[in-house]
Amino acid sequence: MRQVVLKHALEDKPRAADFTLIDAPRPQCPDGGVLVTLSHVSMDPYVGARLRGRHMGEPAPEPGVEAIPGHGVGVVIESRCEDFAKGEAVHLMEAGWREYAAAPASAARRIDTEGIDPALHLSALGMPGLTAWAGITRLAQVCEGETVLIDAAAGAVGGTAGQIARAKGAARVIGIAGGPEKCALVTGEYGFDACIDYKQDGWEARLKDALPDGLNVHFENVSSDILNLALTMMKPYGRAILCGLAAHYQTGQPAPGINFGPVIGARAGLHGLVVYDFYDRWDAFAGEIAPMVREGRLRLAHDIADGLDAAPAAFERLMDGKNRGKALIAL
Ligand code: NDP
Repeated sequence: MRQVVLKHALEDKPRAADFTLIDAPRPQCPDGGVLVTLSHVSMDPYVGARLRGRHMGEPAPEPGVEAIPGHGVGVVIESRCEDFAKGEAVHLMEAGWREYAAAPASAARRIDTEGIDPALHLSALGMPGLTAWAGITRLAQVCEGETVLIDAAAGAVGGTAGQIARAKGAARVIGIAGGPEKCALVTGEYGFDACIDYKQDGWEARLKDALPDGLNVHFENVSSDILNLALTMMKPYGRAILCGLAAHYQTGQPAPGINFGPVIGARAGLHGLVVYDFYDRWDAFAGEIAPMVREGRLRLAHDIADGLDAAPAAFERLMDGKNRGKALIAL
């Protein structure tokens, strides 16, 4: 079986040359578990920090031995448990960048592939989608008529968050993204009202123009700089969801702080979000979002690496913020 591993321990931002492909024995199906042939594996921004042992206390994978971590979807080819049968489609949290993965039944989740591309179970219907749903519906509790601002809006979390906010009745959904191609995706495909390209001069003024009456909810995926700007436009009793700091993960420096003045002025609520807290609500999330995905009311672009050989270069693009939509490996 082929799998991608680190060549050596990492200190800095991962580059394609830090990875290599090796042949490893195919995992055995455990008693009480399943063996799965993977069709798609996820690449996520937090993995850049995880590879250096700097993500929520989780260890870095052992260089030369352990597959790079990633969620995966695929089909059960052997089952030694009562919960899953051979041929069923499943999602595994600990799949890894490899061709096959074994897991106990408790770590596998059956997925609905009736009219749904299995890869969507790693994006809009996967961990990023659950993150978006938790932030928009459980923490911010977006209501009818509200205005919502979201950065990294072309990505899986941001793109899904905006479309869920709209479904919850938001009157205005504004995105921030890097470059005209991403902004076209956000407005054209995801249906945001506007998307501001922060790589263009004068973008802050354009953002203010797009939010003439301010905003009720801000969903932060990128940096405290953008958060601080959003806070200056927040209406009284607005809410900010602190979901991610993609611009800071690879710098080795903590993100600069939050400007408290506007928080107090707006009587704003700041909610940190960790998706792990919502794993026990996956069924409620999927029950609500799967019909939207199946009926085409929620769409998400996938930025696909074709095979494990293409994964290191695609991951380097993700680390540089150059992905357009959810970064995945198709096997
Ligand atoms: P994305 O596909 O959105 O990729 C990250 C994006 O961040 C990039 O495409 C880029 O978009 C933007 N970005 C801005 N500056 C940088 C930079 N210096 N380096 C790299 N990227 C940069 O990822 P996801 O949708 O998977 O995740 C979005 C955010 O949500 C991330 O911060 C992630 O860590 C976080 N997250 C948090 C979870 C939680 O439990 N709190 C769970 C899951 C995800 P652009 O060019 O448009 O700026």
